[in-house]
Amino acid sequence: ASGAPDPLLDGLNPPQAQAVSTRSPALLIVAGAGSGKTRVLTHRIAQLIRNREAWPSQILAITFTNKAAAEMRERVEGLLGSAAEGMWISTFHSACVRILRREAERFGYVSGFTIYDSADSRALLKRIIKDLEADSYGFTPANASSKISRLKNELSDADSYAATANANDPRERLFIEIFRSYEQELRRANAFDFDDLIGQTVHLFRTFPEVAAVYQRRFRFLLVDEYQDTNHAQYSLIRELTRPVERDVVERLVPPVRERELDGLGCIPAASLTVVGDSDQSIYAFRGADIRNIVEFERDFPGAEVVKLEQNYRSTQNILSAANAVIGNNLDRQDKSLWTSEGDGPQIVGFTGYSQHDEARFVAEEIEDLHRSGLAYGDVAVFYRTNSQTRALEELLIRAAIPYRVLGGTKFYERAEIKDAMAYLTSLANPYDPIAWSRLIGAPKRGIGPMAEAQLANYAEAMGISFHDAMLRAGELSFGPKVRAAIESLGQLLQRAARMAAGGGATDDSETRKQPAPVADVLKLILDETQMIEKLRAKRDPQDEARAENLEELVSVAKEYDVQHPGVGLLEFLTEVSLVAAVDELDDESGTVSLMTMHTAKGLEFPAVFITGVEEGLLPHQMSVDEIGGISEERRLMYVGITRARKQLYLTLASTRAQFGDVQVAMPSRFLQEIPESLIDWRQSPGEVTGRGGTESRALNAPRSGARPSRGGAGRGVESSVSFGSGSGSGGYGRGGSGAAAVSEPASGNMQSALEQW
Ligand code: ATP
Ligand code: MG
Repeated sequence: ASGAPDPLLDGLNPPQAQAVSTRSPALLIVAGAGSGKTRVLTHRIAQLIRNREAWPSQILAITFTNKAAAEMRERVEGLLGSAAEGMWISTFHSACVRILRREAERFGYVSGFTIYDSADSRALLKRIIKDLEADSYGFTPANASSKISRLKNELSDADSYAATANANDPRERLFIEIFRSYEQELRRANAFDFDDLIGQTVHLFRTFPEVAAVYQRRFRFLLVDEYQDTNHAQYSLIRELTRPVERDVVERLVPPVRERELDGLGCIPAASLTVVGDSDQSIYAFRGADIRNIVEFERDFPGAEVVKLEQNYRSTQNILSAANAVIGNNLDRQDKSLWTSEGDGPQIVGFTGYSQHDEARFVAEEIEDLHRSGLAYGDVAVFYRTNSQTRALEELLIRAAIPYRVLGGTKFYERAEIKDAMAYLTSLANPYDPIAWSRLIGAPKRGIGPMAEAQLANYAEAMGISFHDAMLRAGELSFGPKVRAAIESLGQLLQRAARMAAGGGATDDSETRKQPAPVADVLKLILDETQMIEKLRAKRDPQDEARAENLEELVSVAKEYDVQHPGVGLLEFLTEVSLVAAVDELDDESGTVSLMTMHTAKGLEFPAVFITGVEEGLLPHQMSVDEIGGISEERRLMYVGITRARKQLYLTLASTRAQFGDVQVAMPSRFLQEIPESLIDWRQSPGEVTGRGGTESRALNAPRSGARPSRGGAGRGVESSVSFGSGSGSGGYGRGGSGAAAVSEPASGNMQSALEQW
């Protein structure tokens, strides 16, 4: 198109402008980090709406986190200068929940279904494993849940798995039993686990073509960010949403289809699909992410247009050169280099501490310097490979009075007292949910023991009634008077709270149905009646005091929600809480340094970035060393970390590190050796530190000297005087190629799930 310049194309380079303007039915944008992929998506959406090629409601944009979704919405609205109501910009999970809430009744679920997080799933699996006495076969809730999750990401269920499994293997047979009863229990509980949200939506679309057609018809434009991290289930969802609606289905659609929606054959044509991704940033193989989705895009979507973006607008050339050098060691990739026209920028700063405390001290001091030189704390991020690294960092940041926040880690909603309170709310929305109910019975302790609980559960099941109703009918069972009173009073509390939540009011006057009560009021009723907060305070233990404060914080969260979503009610609140991703806790105020894992950092950018713990055994993580493709995946993670930095990058490590209660000697990461020396300004190089044999001179909380590697020699390739990885073992900061070369096998495996069990 010629004529007046388009403000939405202003400031885009030619391939970016092409990616925004093209109208190919399928478009793949492949590009390295920071080349404007997300920006292109945003401009594309804005252009579609502004040109009236699509109503906002015809757009479905998928982002990796809720935070990214909120940001994208804001930017689109900023570009348009108006709100875009009805536009779905969300994660896969949120989009699927919205669909399932509308449609799940078709396959026997109630719309008030519960969403189980991984702790809930494990609680359920724990029971199942106990019932089946499967622990003696080595099954744990953790390993069973990660295997089930992996299968679900492949869209397998117990039946399809059983069809391919080795029926002669007793352990396999037992696993199938576990899987099957897990599926049954979820259904009985009217609950979906996280993987189900996507898998069941796919299942829904495949089973009910006329339901699929509603969404295929509605969403004319699908746009997916971070496509390299989609797994098979997510990919299948995209496939389902981008099928044409066939003629026979068209005829059955309500409201009736108009002529202009149809193609020449009487079908509703497939939606337009745009995906953007970078195979070098695929870091979720452990969740089943499959780079092949990118590679095979052109095969799956014939006629797809491919646009490559090359210029980087985020980082200095020094940072990009380091990123290029590291990722260049992965053999299984298309060669591409990031470049910028912005100049080299300062060198990367390297620092080796004597211990992790020394490393943390350096990080804190540098942040102070940056701050003094005018950088806001919010412009600084500190990354690490595992959550266990945060403690030392936090200590030193607190000492230096630097405001910070940890993203991820023990999340607020995973704390025991918060889960207790949430169990009540969940149970109000779904009185058939056994996990929520069983949790609330014992929180706080009220003398209803496991026997009584089991009796009630059996009774509910036999009578086909909810747990709440079973409690109100405790008189029909043979409980002693005290237990019975406790049960009935809990049942009554739940009944009152449920009425309140549903908007029935305190009296049972169904004529005057009001709006649902504010979530905060329901929560306060429960907290008051159960005296959860008072009981914690009465213990006079500082930890319990913190727990009481957390519960008060939950009330504030609910209040805030009520203000923002008046009259919406409990179910939406629960949905929102269960979908909050770690990174969502990042708010826009610029006053705090952000601490997070490198996985969480994806898609974000910061003027100054510290990557800490750049050591063999941590980065690459020890668990990756034996995995097929594990090192490649870790290298991509390193690449993601490096490319988050805009102006200044720090790479830090320690020569000794306390882990598992022992102090171990640490070796510099092989990834450090892959970065040209000229790019790094070592404030203290690994050689200077290891030369002193790992003894401690300056660190706070110095560990005793003569650090020794724990688990001496046991396990994978631990060498007595060097790293806890299986590195080259050359001692000191080696030159040239490291012992363990880059591997190029397809990424796979369950390293992360194993990590989570640590
Ligand atoms: P990642 O792979 O990390 O997700 P990305 O490819 O999505 O990165 P963006 O986040 O869209 O990259 O862009 C990186 C930065 O560069 C952003 O700050 C963006 O605003 C800026 N940027 C992108 N394109 C341009 C451009 N043509 N002119 C100026 N700035 C740009
Ligand atoms: Mg992006």
